[in-house]
Amino acid sequence: MPLWFCRVCGLDYDESPWGPDGHTPDHTLCGCCGAEFGYHDATPTAARQYRAQWLAAGAGLFYPNLAPANWQLAEQLAQIPVAYQ
Ligand SMILES: [Zn+2]
Repeated sequence: MPLWFCRVCGLDYDESPWGPDGHTPDHTLCGCCGAEFGYHDATPTAARQYRAQWLAAGAGLFYPNLAPANWQLAEQLAQIPVAYQ
């Protein structure tokens, strides 16, 4: 399985929260930006709006204990799918 990247913050996931068909969001929250899959990332516009709020609020990790070692925000943001940047 290819990695899946959060449409809001670019965090990588082993499995897509949008399901195997890419159209069945599980409505969990991103561990980094806190976006609800299926809601905050439902459209490119929604993803950009939520991202702007998240960045304006300091781009903190929603679950700080899940922070990858050597977390690099800029590198992660570069992983956002092109259509949602
Ligand atoms: Zn995210």
